[in-house]
Amino acid sequence: MNDKDEKPTAGKSQVTRRGFVQFVSRGAGGAIAVGAALKIATSKIFPESLPARSIAPGDQKWVMVIDLAKCDGCRDCTKACSMMHYAPPMQEWIKVFEITDNPAAGPFFMPRPCMQCDNPPCVRGCPVGATYKRTDGIVIQDDDRCIGCRNCIAQCPYSARSFNWGEPPHSPEELAKPYNVEYNYPHRKGTVEKCIFCPQELREGRLPACASTCKMGAIYFGDELEDAVTNGKGETIQFTKIAKRGAGFRLMEELGTEPRVYYLPPSSRKYPAPDEKRQASSTPMKMEG
Ligand code: SF4
Repeated sequence: MNDKDEKPTAGKSQVTRRGFVQFVSRGAGGAIAVGAALKIATSKIFPESLPARSIAPGDQKWVMVIDLAKCDGCRDCTKACSMMHYAPPMQEWIKVFEITDNPAAGPFFMPRPCMQCDNPPCVRGCPVGATYKRTDGIVIQDDDRCIGCRNCIAQCPYSARSFNWGEPPHSPEELAKPYNVEYNYPHRKGTVEKCIFCPQELREGRLPACASTCKMGAIYFGDELEDAVTNGKGETIQFTKIAKRGAGFRLMEELGTEPRVYYLPPSSRKYPAPDEKRQASSTPMKMEG
């Protein structure tokens, strides 16, 4: 277990303010506005929110916004994530799906990281507290505690978790450091893994690997309390504007899981859809002359 993750810190003064987040309108008002505007009035399967169990540095509330109109399906986010975390083969902590069965929106690509739910069923389902909620919104996974029961995998409605059925192959770089819950490697047999929003990068004032790598600028990340999210191209948008535009939505919101990942719709997508991409790559090139 990592001491840094469990002990309360002296607070914000010890933490460098996020360099990549532009200060817009500090305070809880923005967060409340977003919550009110985006809330869907439905009966929820998990009505009560779980309290955070681990005190993270600072008083941030990390949030991710994925603009589906910008994602061109290149999967650079998946590759960057796997490289940063030395993810075992076949694991994709952020997966890019091709959505082709939605006639209203048309085909589009949809990256799916862990939703870092504020009311996480995986945390409820873990009998040993190996996965838990931090005050900064991250749902962390501690493989020092994981007993491999896989109940968290069964509970997650987003299929955001993976299991190491065998001992994963290791690289010298992965084994160079002792296990730390904030980067969650070296990996080991019989444990569960998932996206954790790259807390070690956030400590250094950097974006998570997926957001910083996305050339399309489709993945925005920031502090909900600062009301601003920034993408890898340095573009910042006001988080509450998502609510004002009525554009932001969360996956399976009706379950009451309260995801910390928001999506902007693919309605103005300017890039080839999955089918168009396939057709383009299978069409023989015309020879000149
Ligand atoms: Fe847990 Fe799944 Fe929610 Fe992530 S998406 S916090 S793994 S329930």
